[in-house]
Amino acid sequence: MDLSKDWVLASNNAGKLKEFSELLAPLNIQIKPQKEYGVEDAIEDGLSFIENAIIKARHASLITGKPALADDSGLEIDALNGAPGIYSARYSAMNGGEKSDHANLLRALEELKDVPTQKRTARFQCVLAFMRHANDPTPLIIQRSWEGTILTAPRGENGFGYDPIFWVEEHQCSSAELSKEQKNALSHRGQAVKAFAQQISLRLGL
Ligand code: IMP
Repeated sequence: MDLSKDWVLASNNAGKLKEFSELLAPLNIQIKPQKEYGVEDAIEDGLSFIENAIIKARHASLITGKPALADDSGLEIDALNGAPGIYSARYSAMNGGEKSDHANLLRALEELKDVPTQKRTARFQCVLAFMRHANDPTPLIIQRSWEGTILTAPRGENGFGYDPIFWVEEHQCSSAELSKEQKNALSHRGQAVKAFAQQISLRLGL
């Protein structure tokens, strides 16, 4: 199949756009955020990261007629049976709280207040889904995770989301105390992006 090198990113997040544009430029692929094509956000009603990533990629591809790339990510905490999981971005709002990163991490700390350190294991998950067209029966799916434990109070100013409460054993600090380079080398998203670059080069025969 002759694949167009004009792709749509099923996200409007500026950080993700930059990361994917840089990664795909050497392959002569141009990727633009879905809002440039007038695509509204898809309704993410899947029950797993994979389903939501596919829903977003399919929606963007259907409306634009272009190959689409989507990512879906979140934090899975073992003592909370995997919560907040696919609801990571709206964890506090789902409970009547404010929709902010800080409110989300405070809720996670509150839910874990009686859980001892050794039971505070968690991981970030990231799924990338690439679809050549809206009916693509074999989307390219990459899933990567990053293991850590949840602290009892936030630390650090870098990153976003749950980074201030995610303890990184390897560096003996929170994810929000890592530099961007250190985080990218270890993180769920960093690993997924690297694997995607390798696999898409193979698929495109580059
Ligand atoms: P989305 O995939 O951009 O919708 O992200 C889902 C949510 O998961 C974010 O809003 C964050 O709360 C959380 N999350 C995903 N990746 C990270 C990360 O690298 N650090 C901290 N939080 C993250």
